[in-house]
Amino acid sequence: MIAPTQLPVRTVSDLGERALVERITARLAMPSWVVVGPGDDAAVIEPERGTLEVLTTDVQVEGVHFDRRFVPPDAIGHRALAVNLSDLAAMGATPRAVLLSLVLPDALDVTIVDGMLDGLLSLAAAHNVVVVGGNISRSPGPMMVDVTAIGAVRPRRVLTRGGARPGDGVYVTGTVGDASVGLQSLQTARGPAPHACQQRYLRPQPRVRAGMLLGRNRAASACVDTSDGLADAVRRIAEASQVGLALDASALPIGDEVRRWHDAQGSGAIDAALGGGDDYELLFTVRPAHQGRLRDVRRRLDGLPVTKIGMVTKERQLFIRTEAGQRRLPAGFDHFR
Ligand SMILES: [Mg+2]
Repeated sequence: MIAPTQLPVRTVSDLGERALVERITARLAMPSWVVVGPGDDAAVIEPERGTLEVLTTDVQVEGVHFDRRFVPPDAIGHRALAVNLSDLAAMGATPRAVLLSLVLPDALDVTIVDGMLDGLLSLAAAHNVVVVGGNISRSPGPMMVDVTAIGAVRPRRVLTRGGARPGDGVYVTGTVGDASVGLQSLQTARGPAPHACQQRYLRPQPRVRAGMLLGRNRAASACVDTSDGLADAVRRIAEASQVGLALDASALPIGDEVRRWHDAQGSGAIDAALGGGDDYELLFTVRPAHQGRLRDVRRRLDGLPVTKIGMVTKERQLFIRTEAGQRRLPAGFDHFR
């Protein structure tokens, strides 16, 4: 009998997301005009000297990223664009244009396409983003909405995951854990419906303005969005910057509705906030000497909270300090498991 560890790797699921990405990127060569290649929230290229373009793509697949039983058509379109704008925000970019690729089952009601477009176009209008082209194909199975987004950023204003240094503070915008409560309550219809959390899951607000401000005045040394949860975002910055991070559990911005919901379910709000995805906040680091720049950003955020939740450390470990002591952060999310 062959031990499980000796079984040959045959499927993408056997391989896992991370190894699959490495397998693909190992085959790619980056010319000098690629400023940021694979491995960050978005790619940055310099098609002409002095002009940077920021590019990202993300697909929403029915049954994987959304369930039409509880995600209305406008929210499908809103989320498809929001996830891409969030990645541009994490690079400090101003979003400009998107390409929209639709893969649709034959029997799909056309009013669902109209509703999806309502959601996508209203978020686009809110951020002065224009749909400049796209593609439609037939799907033998689920509905898919694939968006490619293009943004602009000035040279030296690009935010990457790689700039954090020991001693930097760790900050997050908004609140964490809301969307995962929203999703779970939509899936199970258990307990009183936490409407604000459901709204956070269905119609997340990408932190476009925060990202632009953090890049423009160079307040942040590193930045990432929390699409796959806070713990995953922390891990991404730690890996790219080759540092460790220590979070303070009592500092995490967890809303009252989220705490109440977890209390009622008997689950832990802190672990859920660390592991739960779909919040689309920005996690970023700030040098001690750049507190003044951060104050300027805060003043211009129209009330969006920015909370210090930890420190960058030299020791390359990921910790969270709780009342019970210090422990390792839970593992990240894998799209194939
Ligand atoms: Mg991202």
